[in-house]
Amino acid sequence: MTNKDLANLIFPDIKQDISYYDEIYKPRELKEGQKVTRFAPSPTGFIHLGGFFQAIIDYMLAKNSDGIFYLRNEDTDQQREVQNASQLIIDTLRYYDIMPSEYEENGKIIGNYGPYVQSERKEIYHTFIKYLIEIGRAYPCFCTKEDLEQKRKQQEERKFRTGYYGIWSHCRKLSLEEQIERIKNGEEYVIRFKSLGNFERKFKYDDLVKGRLELPENDEDFVIMKSDNKLPTYHFAHVIDDYLMKTTHVVRGEEWLSSLPKHLELFKAFNFKAPKYVHTPLLVKKEGNSVRKISKRKDPEATMTYYKDKGYPKKAVIEALMTIINSNYEQWHTANPEKNFTDFQYSPKKMSSSGAFFDLEKLDNISRNVISKMKAEEVYQELYTWTKEYDLEFKELLEKYKEYSTQVFNIEREQKKPRKDYVNYSDIKNQVWYMYDELFEKENKKYDFQKITDKEEIKKICTIYMDKYFNENDDKDTWFNKIKELCDALGYASNMKEYKENPDRFKGNVADVSTVLRVVITTRSMTPDLYEIMKLLGKERIEKRISLFES
Ligand code: GLU
Ligand code: ZN
Repeated sequence: MTNKDLANLIFPDIKQDISYYDEIYKPRELKEGQKVTRFAPSPTGFIHLGGFFQAIIDYMLAKNSDGIFYLRNEDTDQQREVQNASQLIIDTLRYYDIMPSEYEENGKIIGNYGPYVQSERKEIYHTFIKYLIEIGRAYPCFCTKEDLEQKRKQQEERKFRTGYYGIWSHCRKLSLEEQIERIKNGEEYVIRFKSLGNFERKFKYDDLVKGRLELPENDEDFVIMKSDNKLPTYHFAHVIDDYLMKTTHVVRGEEWLSSLPKHLELFKAFNFKAPKYVHTPLLVKKEGNSVRKISKRKDPEATMTYYKDKGYPKKAVIEALMTIINSNYEQWHTANPEKNFTDFQYSPKKMSSSGAFFDLEKLDNISRNVISKMKAEEVYQELYTWTKEYDLEFKELLEKYKEYSTQVFNIEREQKKPRKDYVNYSDIKNQVWYMYDELFEKENKKYDFQKITDKEEIKKICTIYMDKYFNENDDKDTWFNKIKELCDALGYASNMKEYKENPDRFKGNVADVSTVLRVVITTRSMTPDLYEIMKLLGKERIEKRISLFES
């Protein structure tokens, strides 16, 4: 009996040999330096911020080199798979405008290196596993869960490294006859890779982020095909897919670094050239005095939907991630504010090789900035799109008052230092609700009066102001002069210098009087430019608010 007999017994339907796939997956015609990257998430039903972080790096590496970025759905862990999860991934990439050029959507394959869904590639994996069995580099293992558990216990007790290697790789020693007989008897088995490595031997490896590393060779006979669904493990699928799809650069989380020796040994067993690796640091956050991994369980911001739900501009999210992707990004962005992030030359070497800090406060600042630089029309459009999904009440108001809303968003916008009131789209209503009568009237109003709190005095200021001074056609200087006149008439200081010299001579000053008007009209003591607000509201609506206050 030969290895071939064993291979044929396990894979009777596989007729082609591995060279068949070299005909289908031809080398890509790449020019010098062009990179091929991929985002290869598992469809778990959400996209982790850390995964998205990697996708941006993939996208950058490809765009910087005029190369190719493709998407692969790694769904071999079918227990974890969630319906529509792969659509969510595509939707997210599309939403952020970092679409791959090759992918699979609704069963449609776009690109020449598909299928891009691993569960559709079973026959391919089987062909390559069959080959390994034929050349004596893979074998069936019949160990049960209990066998493996027992082995692990023994290893721990006797202070051995745990794992299926060397003297512990029991099934490696079975004869071909026994292997064949047990399979024929219907025993369950996995397929393991037969390692030729020596853990005591170290080799040098250059990771693009971490630099030169010294790693031990792999000596584990790790599982390459699972027993139940006959699908490959990550280790195996990674090597086959990235070889066939001609990936030049693998960007993935540093949790995979410890498996790298396994992958390199597999590449070598097939005589394939291994890609380069960019192992990305964990995304971490500060919590009190400690630093910890951003986790899906503890942190809402770990999931990409968080940013869409909150209404952060896409640009802000990408920018916040770019600042931690490369330490010199911020400086570059300040110098090139008009350029797209893909114009930045990403360098793995300039990435933190330990933890990468992701800070929500920083995102807020970036986001405020991004929104403050938009035209009012753009704020209107983006906000309107957001409300369609998240705030129907506000959506209707935006529809009803399109021109007006745009003017509201334009207050203190087109100037050298625009206001940065809006953190994100979900925050805008909190900032402007008082500009809409529908919201103002239903709100349970808390008036934030400051110095002047006497209701009669407040009424007096408002009534006299409206009767004698307010005119909605006044320009800003005239408007302000009239408020000063009102102050003089009522015993408040219209001149701050005079007030400071002799505060006792006055009931208060012009700032106190403006605050009264501001609070009665908006309930808030701090708002954008009061002149603009009054102009937009107009006489009638202001008067209505005064009577609302009085009642
Ligand atoms: N499917 C792997 C994961 O979800 C991806 C690792 C890789 O990019 O190779 O973690
Ligand atoms: Zn075994």
